Amino acid sequence: MTTSPVAGSADLHAWWLQAVGEEVAEQARPVRLDTSGQLHVRCLIPAWATQMRQLSRQVADRLTAIRPESGVAGLTVVLSPARLLVIGPPKWQHQELLSPALEDAWHDVTQIHGPHQPLVIVHGLDGELGSTLAAWTQHAGVASESHTPEWDICGPDCPADPNHRQLRPDGTPYCPTAGRRLNQQMIDHGADIILALIPPGSADLDADIRHARAVQIPVREIHSPDQP
Ligand SMILES: [Zn+2]
Repeated sequence: MTTSPVAGSADLHAWWLQAVGEEVAEQARPVRLDTSGQLHVRCLIPAWATQMRQLSRQVADRLTAIRPESGVAGLTVVLSPARLLVIGPPKWQHQELLSPALEDAWHDVTQIHGPHQPLVIVHGLDGELGSTLAAWTQHAGVASESHTPEWDICGPDCPADPNHRQLRPDGTPYCPTAGRRLNQQMIDHGADIILALIPPGSADLDADIRHARAVQIPVREIHSPDQP
């Protein structure tokens, strides 16, 4: 039984950066170390994916030299579209700001990765915001990947007291931190840029934004114009 010494994605990123250096780390991002010792690495550009596969043995050896206890057996290199992650509160009142913000974030991606970089929009939005996003992706011809928070299930960090759960208008309980857990999972799954929709006076997304910046993911913040 191997226990992973990698505490989280920030730690994984720091270790990766130490092993491969900044130039490679910009082109190849570590996603996770699985239980069989394969480190999954995401590349946006085919040439880099090929190169990382060729360097797989050397890189695994360097990672092991830095952390002999890590049990890295090899690299699994995946060619991936750029992932634009959209995070925000369930009810954000400014749908009209979403499409221009998506345009700007897409522009950022092309500035960083080139005009022909395939893109996927990853999000957990629903309701009107989700519909606005779906209309934009369809119009722009961009793929999307949508996730739903697991409102009915509590996470490992939830208080034992079931009263932390809140009630829907119909009286059924839900876990109020499910949205935060989904954001964390989506970030850990890999993103190349994040669009954060921030309501007035809210600190809910602060931890997610700090976490993303710690693993070198650029964050574009869109603040709601409302005054609290
Ligand atoms: Zn809970």
